[in-house]
Amino acid sequence: MSVYDERPWLARYDPGQPADVEPEFGDALAMFAATVARAPEADAIRYFDGRIGFAELDRLTDAFAAGLVAEGFAAGERVAIFTQNVPQFVIAQIGTWKAGGIAVPVNPMYKGRELAGLLADSGASVLVCLQSLHRDVAAGVLPGSAVRTVLTTSELDLHSGTATDVLAGVTRIDCPGTIDLLEFLHRHRGATPPAATTGPDDVAFLTYTSGTTGPPKGAMATHRNVVFNARTYRDWIGLDAGDVVLGVAPLFHITGLVGHVAVTLLTGAPLVLMYRLDPALALRTAERERATFTVGSITVFIALMNAPGAQRSQLATLRKIYSGGAPIPPSTVHAFRETFGHYIHNIYGLTETTSPSHAVPLHAEAPVDDASGALSVGVPVYGTVVRIIDEDGADLAPGEVGELVTAGPQVVAGYWEKPEETARALPGGVLHTGDVGYMDADGWFYIVDRKKDQINAGGYKIWPREVEDVLYEHPAVREAAVVGVPDEYRGETVKAFVSLRADATATPAELIAFAGERMAAYKYPRQVEILDEIPKTASGKVLRRELRGR
Ligand code: AMP
Repeated sequence: MSVYDERPWLARYDPGQPADVEPEFGDALAMFAATVARAPEADAIRYFDGRIGFAELDRLTDAFAAGLVAEGFAAGERVAIFTQNVPQFVIAQIGTWKAGGIAVPVNPMYKGRELAGLLADSGASVLVCLQSLHRDVAAGVLPGSAVRTVLTTSELDLHSGTATDVLAGVTRIDCPGTIDLLEFLHRHRGATPPAATTGPDDVAFLTYTSGTTGPPKGAMATHRNVVFNARTYRDWIGLDAGDVVLGVAPLFHITGLVGHVAVTLLTGAPLVLMYRLDPALALRTAERERATFTVGSITVFIALMNAPGAQRSQLATLRKIYSGGAPIPPSTVHAFRETFGHYIHNIYGLTETTSPSHAVPLHAEAPVDDASGALSVGVPVYGTVVRIIDEDGADLAPGEVGELVTAGPQVVAGYWEKPEETARALPGGVLHTGDVGYMDADGWFYIVDRKKDQINAGGYKIWPREVEDVLYEHPAVREAAVVGVPDEYRGETVKAFVSLRADATATPAELIAFAGERMAAYKYPRQVEILDEIPKTASGKVLRRELRGR
């Protein structure tokens, strides 16, 4: 029985692709090899004025893999990659796979304690790191980690050095005790990497997420997951080698890993890497490169609209626009169309679904929920079975609100070394998303609420406990409770409620500064309110809903 028999309405949205979801490639390396063979000279990555073709990317990643093995790296080991969106990220990622390893992307906004936590959890033995991040963040935490090999690189490498606004002021930094990545690649150029033994169920990435509960966990995205969702973009959204991908999403997040890199490896469409989001530069780059497709969070599209001097003609070719990771205000879709003449398509998924499980088909526009004003997140992509369930796990009828659960070839294998968390969030391999919503009579899905405590600041996810733990380290803090409150730009922002110890004093500004020094910029609270008591239930559970409404 095909998914179309179970849910006949899905066929209406199918752009003519077969419903079979048998893996087309055994792993993401086979997918890449097919593109290298088909279009060796085509651009794989464009970075400022630098270009790396597919055959060259193949050679560079061979060198990376051979070099890792020469350093004593064994199959199954983890390589943490701590960079902005630079080509070295992609080289390290593919090179790691070629050496039989698992790539662990790290948010470049992380401070020392966050990086240390991730290195400890993943047990990474290799770190690939931007020089500036090595100096400012990594050097201090490496001694306590299992990392044996540190490869450092500069954002100035791999482009020919023409001054750009974004890289102005960046200089090369000496990183004692580390290996220079470019030298490493030169040294191992031409060496044969180990014979690949990777299969569809081997883990490609550990992508860290707070999930529905608990501290950051490494979601194990397998090669099957990655290949499947690259195909989702290609077949279901409609991308091919004639497209040009504007890489505005961060590569450490699953949206960038799949919606940018994996899409390029599968289709051969060049990936234009944006080092970081500079809206005016992104517009100029989209125009120059004739970008046709992008996926990012809604804050990216808001930033593009508000870029000084933004002109409709700059995005003339960018017709395939997807926004995921956070709710989209319908008014933003409208304003974007007024500015650039293009419709923003909603796309929904989680780290645990290796990017999309739902999307608005390219030729359609999402309906809006009358009551909440929420835009539909789309319909499930092919091969995906989605249910809406009540508290007892029973299926709900169209229109009834419950938790979304998802099963399909894009659902990850679980959390790295966390069997209990895996059993809780993915019982029987079915993902309980923690998102609350419904399906309408036509099969469109809507997200209207959240069961999980997670805060969503424009696509960046924050787990309140992580922020609370830092606040508790302040000597004046007796109790802390962190919630998401509405924010015009990011949808939600972080607010902390704090009670102080008897006789202790601390101002909100002091507490904000204290947290800001210890956490990534998107995580620390921008508002702190001091209360005599944090409101709690009789059993001592913080009344987060009440705090959100204050
Ligand atoms: P992440 O693991 O960072 O990809 O975050 C996944 C979460 O982001 C989901 O569980 C949702 O709460 C939220 N999310 C993702 N896409 C959308 C969307 N299109 N609309 C609303 N919320 C979204």
